[in-house]
Amino acid sequence: MKRILVTGGAGFLGSHLCERLLARGHDVLCVDNFFTGSKQNVAHLIADPRFELMRHDITFPLYVEVDEIYNLACPASPIHYQYDPVQTTKTSVHGAINVLGLAKRTGAKILQASPSEVYGDPDLHPQPEHYWGRVNPVGVRSCYDEGKRCAETLFFDYWRQHGVRIKVARIFNTYGPRMHPSDGRVVSNFIVQALLGDDITIYGEGTQTRSFCYVDDLIEAMIRLMATKDEFTGPINIGNPVEFTIHDLASQVLALTGSDSRLVFKPLPMDDPRQRQPDIALARQVLRWEPETQLAEGLERTIEHFRDRLLTQQIAELAALARSGPRQTAQPQAPTELVPDAPAQPLAQTA
Ligand code: NAD
Ligand code: UDP
Ligand code: UDP
Repeated sequence: MKRILVTGGAGFLGSHLCERLLARGHDVLCVDNFFTGSKQNVAHLIADPRFELMRHDITFPLYVEVDEIYNLACPASPIHYQYDPVQTTKTSVHGAINVLGLAKRTGAKILQASPSEVYGDPDLHPQPEHYWGRVNPVGVRSCYDEGKRCAETLFFDYWRQHGVRIKVARIFNTYGPRMHPSDGRVVSNFIVQALLGDDITIYGEGTQTRSFCYVDDLIEAMIRLMATKDEFTGPINIGNPVEFTIHDLASQVLALTGSDSRLVFKPLPMDDPRQRQPDIALARQVLRWEPETQLAEGLERTIEHFRDRLLTQQIAELAALARSGPRQTAQPQAPTELVPDAPAQPLAQTA
């Protein structure tokens, strides 16, 4: 049994990681400022005496005693990380300094959740770990891409200079239950749009590609990475190498939901990478790991999750409507929280 800190533990990936670590018998301290995560994501873990939830912003120092640290705290979708870009860079850079300082003091092993965005809009395909990337340092995505690149630099300097035991994972597009429904990411957008019968918004012509990894596979790889020998630092790509065009994804979502939503084409966002696929040869070799979940199977589980959320919210809204006065005949509206492309708002700090 270890004492494990998960920063960003109330987010999409963090909540699955906390769940899995508890199931393995560890004590888990989940630290989050609830900017994009929510208490709801970890509500089912609160009753476990080995789970502790702490509201804290990692740009401030944190003094706790732990054996391992997974550093996931950082808004991950463009609309959220671009909402307050300076804070995004601070979270990546100041946050990394604080958790690395904590690892240095306690001797804890520390894993960084780095994204495939460190490769930018790559001119090498698929991307192996030795590829240095093609990143715009002054664009709207730079706060995230460069912030995460600087965090990697800090991890490697704390390793070289202070002997901190580090692991750097480079995570490619991951999806699954508890993705934020209005964070603008393609899988959640398409599923919610299809379930609501709204237009499916394809940016550009939909010929750009991504490789989608189901969350359970990703978490397994992260835990295996933490368990590698101290000599192994990474960086190591984690993701699913099976590549799909965004148009393919839209077709699969339509087929699996049975929706008759229309496909509509919108302008491609700035600096949107045309192609992305991980080279996972190193993960296969070192972690003896391979993603197991096929896209259709993972999408079905994710669709199920959003269907339930939608239903729960519609019931709550109908109940509120019923309580608020004389019966209305109007159709219930789609719950605003579940409508994609919502204006870029930070989520309630009191989530
Ligand atoms: P998420 O937004 O759901 O989770 C991030 C969590 O960090 C949220 O709970 C948020 O409230 C918290 N947070 C943000 N700033 C914080 C701060 N200053 N202090 C404390 N908590 C803070 O995103 P996610 O998809 O779960 O991503 C988790 C991590 O994995 C991120 O670091 C992201 O860069 C990385 N990652 C995710 C993906 C993906 O496809 N989901 C891909 C590559 C990398
Ligand atoms: N830090 C922390 N928790 C700890 C130890 C350090 O949050 O348990 C923070 C501390 O605030 C410091 C940062 O981590 O600013 C970096 O620590 P380090 O020891 O590397 O640097 P120094 O304290 O010398 O600036
Ligand atoms: N995308 C899209 N429609 C949407 C949301 C996203 O076509 O409603 C596209 C987006 O332009 C990008 C791809 O889907 O090419 C993946 O976007 P996402 O934000 O999920 O991830 P990232 O760009 O970080 O890989």
